[in-house]
Amino acid sequence: MSLLDGLTRVVVAHAHPDDETLSTGALLAELARRDVEVHVVTVTRGERGGLVEGIPAPEPGTDAYAAHREQELADALVVLGVHHHAFLGAPPALARGRRPRLYRDSGMRWVTPALAGPAADADAHSLTAATVEEAAADLAAYLLEVQPDTLITYDADGGYGHPDHVRVHEVAVAAARATGIPLLVLAGATADTLADPGEDWEWHDWAEHRPAVAAALAHHASQLTVDGTDVVHVGGQREPIRTRIGLRRG
Ligand SMILES: [Zn+2]
Repeated sequence: MSLLDGLTRVVVAHAHPDDETLSTGALLAELARRDVEVHVVTVTRGERGGLVEGIPAPEPGTDAYAAHREQELADALVVLGVHHHAFLGAPPALARGRRPRLYRDSGMRWVTPALAGPAADADAHSLTAATVEEAAADLAAYLLEVQPDTLITYDADGGYGHPDHVRVHEVAVAAARATGIPLLVLAGATADTLADPGEDWEWHDWAEHRPAVAAALAHHASQLTVDGTDVVHVGGQREPIRTRIGLRRG
């Protein structure tokens, strides 16, 4: 019995545009293939991302850049077969009685080549400046609206340590608890490189979805370049397009 058996509707929570494709593109394509109704909620617009040289896009940090990344995300979701998307802090992912708000990208810096840590200058509207409780109330409102069988997000390490990813995990745990909706978490880089990833991870390899993931990634051209079966990030880090995904109960 797989953790994915019997699912009819899921919510997948991500921190920035591109994370849905980078870390779960193959999962989203597989869920769509199984006719599962997939809802992706993205918390920030990736306002503090970089910009691949030579790509015509507005300057990072501007509203136009955020809008550009929103469009890249929308285009990627179409390729992956996802028809439902929301941003946290905007209806329907907004707690009752609250004004719509933006959770901004908190930024990051590399602590080691594979581990990210908080940026020194995250602004007052950044996700990590909001409390877990307020962001979780917005996510819980979305979960109650959509009524998924499960919520899926990063594990406690946030995948690779980005402070927004770590926070999205904390927010998802709180929202799942508040609504009683089960949580599945994704194996991060650490679990993937362990010789013995442990018995509690359920691993899938959806290599058949690599072409779809590559096509979806190509829409995130401001952030990355697809090179054969690899993805090259704006900072130069290269990794294989991820089709191997581990899940466990959160
Ligand atoms: Zn991210």
